[in-house]
Amino acid sequence: MPFGHDMVHSLSTVVDLINTSPTAGGEECLSDLVQLGELVERWQVSGVDELGSGDLAQVRALRDAFHRVFTAPDQAAAVIRLNTLLGETRMTPRLTEHDGHPVHVHYFAPGASVAEHLAADCGIALAHLLVEGEWERLRTCAAPDCERVFFDESRNRSRVYCDSRTCGNRMHVAAYRARRRA
Ligand SMILES: [Zn+2]
Ligand SMILES: [Zn+2]
Repeated sequence: MPFGHDMVHSLSTVVDLINTSPTAGGEECLSDLVQLGELVERWQVSGVDELGSGDLAQVRALRDAFHRVFTAPDQAAAVIRLNTLLGETRMTPRLTEHDGHPVHVHYFAPGASVAEHLAADCGIALAHLLVEGEWERLRTCAAPDCERVFFDESRNRSRVYCDSRTCGNRMHVAAYRARRRA
């Protein structure tokens, strides 16, 4: 897949963001500003001033909007949902070179809040994915008791579990036991 570093980084960020939601990961992992600060640090969301309670509410609302794109019943619905999100986001495309990566475009506007930064960069990454006809790579885990989302980077789009070591392994053990019982 010819996805650049920022695209993969943004897709990984949006997956992690959605999985902090109780509707995906099972518990609220953005319950306070400390957890929001950890997310900002984890994904090196740059240009963020001191975080306030408004940021927390905005990021949680954005998280739900992104989750709706992932769980859209088809690509047409995903396009509509993503367009709504993009239409509400201020953007300033800007060429940049940093951390040894070749020149590429950042989209968040100067002075953007953390939610605006995430909406712009992750929103554009999802838009490119849709344009490339790769929307099906946005998945929800196939394990029956897991609603976590993931981005399938495998060559043949064959990944079905959020994490092969946890859900994948667990499901393989369950299938093995079911076969033994049969
Ligand atoms: Zn960059
Ligand atoms: Zn899972």
